[in-house]
Amino acid sequence: MNDDPLLAALRAAVGDAQVLSGGDLAAYEQDWRKRWRGRARAVVRPGSAAEVAAVLRACAAQGATVVPQGGNTGLVGGGVPDDSGTQVLLSLQRMNRIRAIDAANLTLTAEAGCVLQALQQAAAAQGLLLPLSLAAEGSCTIGGNLATNAGGTQVLRWGNARELCLGLEVVTADGEVWDGLGGLRKDNTGYDLRDLFIGSEGTLGVITAATLKLAPQPAAVCTALAACADLDACVALLQLARARLGAGLTGFEVMNAFSLQLVARHFPALPRPLPGAAWTVLLEQSDVEGEAAARARFEALLEAAVERGLVDDAVVAESLAQSRALWHVREAIPLAQAEEGLNIKHDIALPVSAIPAFCTRTDAALLARWPGARLVNFGHLGDGNLHYNLQAPPGADGAAFLREHEPAVNALVYDAVAEAGGSFSAEHGVGQLKRHEMAARKHPVALALMRRVKVALDPQGLLNPGRVLPAP
Ligand code: FAD
Ligand code: ZN
Repeated sequence: MNDDPLLAALRAAVGDAQVLSGGDLAAYEQDWRKRWRGRARAVVRPGSAAEVAAVLRACAAQGATVVPQGGNTGLVGGGVPDDSGTQVLLSLQRMNRIRAIDAANLTLTAEAGCVLQALQQAAAAQGLLLPLSLAAEGSCTIGGNLATNAGGTQVLRWGNARELCLGLEVVTADGEVWDGLGGLRKDNTGYDLRDLFIGSEGTLGVITAATLKLAPQPAAVCTALAACADLDACVALLQLARARLGAGLTGFEVMNAFSLQLVARHFPALPRPLPGAAWTVLLEQSDVEGEAAARARFEALLEAAVERGLVDDAVVAESLAQSRALWHVREAIPLAQAEEGLNIKHDIALPVSAIPAFCTRTDAALLARWPGARLVNFGHLGDGNLHYNLQAPPGADGAAFLREHEPAVNALVYDAVAEAGGSFSAEHGVGQLKRHEMAARKHPVALALMRRVKVALDPQGLLNPGRVLPAP
């Protein structure tokens, strides 16, 4: 090992202890879904932007390709090495310092490896809100959130990770540090490099720090559940809730009956509110006045919805603890799915108005072709984003089902998505999973421009090759 010049250069860059080679590297080499398992030449754990730059210079000098990784919770195979055994896995996890919180400017500046939940807590300790929230928040990192332009459950009100980011610090492919941090809401000085790196999934540069927007903590956060007979009723309820609650509506999630059955099976200790509902809607309201006002507004909204025949039954959480419990049910769906076995995931975006007809048509087409397959359909209806997943028929081997049928299932679903004016990736990104969809479905002019951007920023093709852009 000592005679490997790349490893020697990496050790010089970050110190011996932070270059791992050999031993059990599964935590870095395997993705969260256990769909992809690669082999890294080394795992490198820099502690500063200067060390990241030194690592990238060493890799560039020897033509070694680099896979950046944060919390390794990505769902499209973008953050794990391939199986060549030649790639350097660059883990940002040691870069976990909060550099500053500016309460008057409502900003937080933190290093890329900070775990999202730690940042939420740091903001909350100052009475402030970092309005980015997803079920993986206990382990995903802010660098990964920005690299994937993560969405989550607050997009309806606050936008996705891109909309929360004011500035970035990035290390370029040739090992230079760009300090683009700063708390400006307005800065029209040329091309927006920040927005180029956000959502680039580690293919254009390594994000080492970011400045994020905060908001004041609301006085109260209140949650309600509503049972709807179909998706048309869910969409009508969304319209009504937007009209009645305005910016106070901070979450609007839907869950089909089967996704909640899976949660009940694998997490029996969680509550089972509104059993029997075909669709359960989770609404969240954030209020500047307080608990009682928020609850009263919810009750009036739900009463009106019942009167109009949109909602069959509803519960309003009585306490913060109850609100949290309802969110746990929603957040347990992907975990319950993983317990049930490998499944075919789709993270699709559609105009909200097109969703009911899309589901009626596509559900029927899928079940006609794969009788017995089970649809786990849930997600962020308020953003027009569904996790439209297919689980193998009961008793069937999920892995075998996936191997055999995934391409045909995807073709059916993504053709229907395209027809409805949608996107095959709403919030999870492209990674390796959807690379070929880029080739098949992205506008050729857009693809050509993307390739030119890639060549301009990473001429040697060292950063996360084989991800996002299809092979030429
Ligand atoms: P990783 O998985 O480590 O990496 C993801 C990608 O970003 C890779 O391509 C990697 O190369 C790149 N990358 C990571 N860090 C950097 C960096 N510092 N610089 C450059 N590139 C980098 N996603 C949503 O959007 N919304 C959800 O609601 C949601 N729910 C989830 C629920 C569960 C249970 C799980 C497991 C995942 C969920 N995800 C969701 C997906 C995932 O959590 C997000 O994609 C998250 O943003 C990834 O962050 P990470 O730190 O784990 O990144
Ligand atoms: Zn999601």
